[in-house]
Amino acid sequence: ITSRAPGIWRYLELLPVDAPPARSLAVGSTPLIAADRLGPTLGVDRLWIKDDTRNPSLSFKDRPAAIAAARAVEFGLPALACASTGNLAGATAAAAAAVGLPAYVFIPADLETAKVEHALSYGATVVPIDGTYDDVNRLCLEIADETGWGFININLRPFYAEGSKTLAYEIAESLGWRSPDVVVAPIASGAMFTRVARGFEELADIGLIERRPIRFVGGQAAGCAPVATAFEAGTDVIEPVREPDTIVRSLAIGNPADGPYAVELARSTGGSIEAIADHVTAAAIRDVA
Ligand SMILES: *Cc1c(COP(=O)(O)O)cnc(C)c1O
Repeated sequence: ITSRAPGIWRYLELLPVDAPPARSLAVGSTPLIAADRLGPTLGVDRLWIKDDTRNPSLSFKDRPAAIAAARAVEFGLPALACASTGNLAGATAAAAAAVGLPAYVFIPADLETAKVEHALSYGATVVPIDGTYDDVNRLCLEIADETGWGFININLRPFYAEGSKTLAYEIAESLGWRSPDVVVAPIASGAMFTRVARGFEELADIGLIERRPIRFVGGQAAGCAPVATAFEAGTDVIEPVREPDTIVRSLAIGNPADGPYAVELARSTGGSIEAIADHVTAAAIRDVA
């Protein structure tokens, strides 16, 4: 692996594609930064931050989008599409531009304009829908059936979700083929949170890292925290949030597909899932910056 070029395709054998795609963006191999001033202020001896803003469209969504786009090309699908809370819009538009497919991006109409313009700049057709992300998602299910387009996070979801495993592969590689004691990650649908865990499992299965316990701690915005609420209540039944109310738009999924698995992961590893108030998140953004 270390003799291969940087990027997610260096872990090809662990990903659900047959060969590295002929065209793709330079996704992955982002830095794992030692936050040795921030860590102690939080009471943490050793803290690393995986800076996935260094990806081509500025978020980790380039990882799942790259896998889904590669499969869409293998399947010969006519277009790439997605339902997005924000970052997937740009990632889908960029991935489609890279592989030469048209992109259709469906978003809640009140999404931040910067994210809309981001997707437009890659040449995507952006379709604002009057409703929440969950409304957009339901509509896209029907459109997927009618058009046969590859919806990155809907009918291509099994491939999309696997992309987040590369976060775990890279973290382990950066730590000298070891796993961390604790993983702290945000939860929207729960796909990333649960697939990072699977990534470490797979590395242990093939003997690249020693199998050690990892505590999984998830974060949601208090204004849309169905998974944190279920964790707190000691159940894995997710009560959907109908009207998300938070500045953390990219996590505002009221009815998260992988919610029950995220609760189970936090519980079985001795972790937790926290609901974070927006003013706390705003302060944390400044601390990290
Ligand atoms: C999409 C996203 C997540 C997590 O999404 P999942 O649906 O849980 O995989 C986390 N943070 C940001 C900024 C995102 O855009």
